[in-house]
Amino acid sequence: MENETTDFIRQRIQSDLEGDVLSQGVVTRFPPEPNGFLHIGHAKSICLNFGVSEQFAGTTFLRFDDTNPQKESEEFVESIKTDVAWLGFSWGALTHASDYFEQIYQYAEDLIRNGKAYVCSLDAEQMRTSRGTLTEPGTNSPYRDRSAEENLDLLQRMRAGEFADGEHIVRLKIDMASPNINLRDPAIYRIRHITHQRTGDAWCIYPMYDFTHCICDALEGISHSLCTLEFEDHRPLYDWVLDNIELNYHPPQIEFSRLGLEYTVMSKRLLHRLVDEKLVSGWDDPRMPTIAGLRRRGVRAAAIRDFCARIGVTKQDNTVEMNLLDFCIRKDLESSAPRGMGVLEPLKVVLTNFQDDIQLEGPWHAQNADLGSRKLPFSRELWIEQSDFSETPPGKWKRLSPGAMVRLRYAFIIRCDEVEYDGDGNVLQLNCTYFPDSKSGEDTSGLKPKGVVHWVDAKQSVAVEVRDYDRLFNVPNPSAKTFIDDINEQSLRTLHAMVEPAIMALDDQHFQFERQGYFCKDSELPGVFNKTVSLREGF
Ligand code: ATP
Ligand code: MG
Repeated sequence: MENETTDFIRQRIQSDLEGDVLSQGVVTRFPPEPNGFLHIGHAKSICLNFGVSEQFAGTTFLRFDDTNPQKESEEFVESIKTDVAWLGFSWGALTHASDYFEQIYQYAEDLIRNGKAYVCSLDAEQMRTSRGTLTEPGTNSPYRDRSAEENLDLLQRMRAGEFADGEHIVRLKIDMASPNINLRDPAIYRIRHITHQRTGDAWCIYPMYDFTHCICDALEGISHSLCTLEFEDHRPLYDWVLDNIELNYHPPQIEFSRLGLEYTVMSKRLLHRLVDEKLVSGWDDPRMPTIAGLRRRGVRAAAIRDFCARIGVTKQDNTVEMNLLDFCIRKDLESSAPRGMGVLEPLKVVLTNFQDDIQLEGPWHAQNADLGSRKLPFSRELWIEQSDFSETPPGKWKRLSPGAMVRLRYAFIIRCDEVEYDGDGNVLQLNCTYFPDSKSGEDTSGLKPKGVVHWVDAKQSVAVEVRDYDRLFNVPNPSAKTFIDDINEQSLRTLHAMVEPAIMALDDQHFQFERQGYFCKDSELPGVFNKTVSLREGF
């Protein structure tokens, strides 16, 4: 699936290449703001930007859009680098919007000298009311006609730190009556007396996104500036800036639709709240839609890349079903993840006619011999799944019940002879007979058990904690207003499971527990296993 698709962006690039429009070849950029961890929506943009440059032998900048110092941090920078690399992509260069602060500032001075920008001293409220609405034009700022000398003097003093936050801003002089609100004298610089994670206290004025982004794109020679649809209305501003400064390169901005995923939220502002209010264990909580969360849950990069290829790139806004992501996760693990046995809710089985300790053997994957096999200790006491036993089985029951037989996977056929109860009448253990001539692969017993169940040896299995995750939200499209109320209180179920010893010794972090799903060892907590995905669709 990966890279086979061709979408409207790839078609455009292809035709630009054929038309010899691109002097430097294909150059893209992925421009995250380091104000949170990356999520699966970002993965779509990463796969597009890096995928396109790989396909057309170009290069991709990883550019940190760090113009908003109060929300940004080095922790987020590091996590973003880790996640992009983990997804399997390498950047041609790593840059920051702040690398260009001096150049960007010089362009602001130039615009002022040319009468195309001015220092405005309205306060935030006055700015809001004078901007107008979608149906009414805005009104000109009383500061719009300051002379170039006065503006330049004010800007230089803003830079020198003579003014408090909010006292002045720099605005472009475009058109307060424009039907596009983005063109109504947008702000390009604001005062923020905040230490920046990279530039420290060198600056106390910071350029706005719309002014910064197009300049960085042009300076880096980006051939196609790919962004999400909400920037479509900003494109005239992107173009205005590049048309009005002395920079002889002008990348095209091309918009595509954002990825939305059901039963989760993707805005960093909302993800921040989940983390800050401790509604999840952190950015990498396995229930989070972050790359780090998915990784911790046991999702591999190939599954995310496959998912992004399948959803494609269009201009239609769409919310993708979680089932598609689960499908890709399963598909990736299907043929390569070893399959072992773990009993999630154990019920004791005692083989009344067996006294030995023996070693059986089973392949790690019935369809993939390359994965080899492992030893399975087998003795008088075993664990099976509580749900594989029923005292009063429904019709067509294929598992164990009083008097019935089942095969233990890669082992023997057993028959349940007797049920023991605890003081409260709960089933405590099953006393069973095993059939010595029924060993898997060498069965001469002629018995016809109803089904096959998984099991582990009681003596040599290892107790672990299994975390089984459900969707984080109860509704398909949690809204920004009510999403906290829509959190699924049952999204984490903790189980005390028993696991065959060979799983503990396995190097691979990812595996299947037969009949239960795909799991992984938690990367932080020894003895904790995370459920990655069930074997079949649907929770
Ligand atoms: P948020 O609103 O969650 O903070 P953002 O778009 O501001 O997200 P950035 O760090 O600015 O986050 O995004 C970096 C890049 O990733 C941008 O080019 C943005 O368009 C893209 N991106 C972010 N979210 C999505 C998404 N859900 N689908 C596709 N691309 C996305
Ligand atoms: Mg942003």
